[in-house]
Amino acid sequence: MFLKGKKGLIIGLANKHSIAYGIAKVASENGAELGFTYLNDSLKKRVEPIANELGSSVVIPLDVTNSEDMDSLKDRVESEMGKIDFIVHSIAFAPKRALSGSTVDTLQEDFLTAMDVSVYSLIGITQKLLPIMNENGSILTLSYFGAEKFVPKYNVMGIAKAALEATVRYMAVDLGDKGIRVNALSAGPIKTLAASGIEDFRNLLKWNEKHSPLGRNVTVEDVGGSAAYLLSDLSRGVTGEVHYVDSGYNIIGMPKEATY
Ligand code: NAD
Repeated sequence: MFLKGKKGLIIGLANKHSIAYGIAKVASENGAELGFTYLNDSLKKRVEPIANELGSSVVIPLDVTNSEDMDSLKDRVESEMGKIDFIVHSIAFAPKRALSGSTVDTLQEDFLTAMDVSVYSLIGITQKLLPIMNENGSILTLSYFGAEKFVPKYNVMGIAKAALEATVRYMAVDLGDKGIRVNALSAGPIKTLAASGIEDFRNLLKWNEKHSPLGRNVTVEDVGGSAAYLLSDLSRGVTGEVHYVDSGYNIIGMPKEATY
């Protein structure tokens, strides 16, 4: 129960396949009190019962591209939860056409959408919620290995994740004197709604399963375990870091059985 007494907002729950679900589950099992946001009315129907199952009745609308949602976020969270200790930012989006073909064909409007929803939103949400965050708070976002190295079809999202990881480092310095920590978890590939937008995602899953030391892909609960640690005081000396939960494939330079 190392999150007992901590309250946090989970942004990015769509269904039980969501990484946000694994994080929320492990956080609530360890005593955290949670609130959730949902993107639109059709997702509200899915998010509400999951929130209830995890002991929460707090479900707040949030489309980060909608200025009314953003402007009302602080008041809604404060009126339902009071002050909070952590924020989980588990959202990303790029139009499907940008996640197939080549990066050089990326349209400017798709680039800007990907950067806005997947990167700026971390800054925008933090601006809004900072006044109601307790000291020793923790902000956590989700990244992927495609931020660092080429991954087929990840394209503009790889660029966005690189920017997101840099944002984590800059925000960590900005918020250090407030005692608020900012970190990213770089998760291995998991079949979720967002991942289904990436062309040939199945190949990624297969490659990673085959080339990871643990010989398997990670689950949302695996990510949840590391997230719960980063949200808690157990990680009080950790900020500005990108933490891997990917069963180890990022350490492989060349697969040991590779022959050409
Ligand atoms: P998901 O589809 O379950 O979650 C993505 C969430 O983003 C959804 O809840 C969706 O409603 C939300 N979202 C999209 N546009 C939004 C907007 N305008 N405003 C507010 N919310 C919006 O998929 P997921 O895989 O759990 O994705 C969560 C995070 O994990 C993303 O940042 C993703 O890039 C990252 N990630 C995923 C994988 C993977 O393989 N699935 C691996 C590493 C990192």
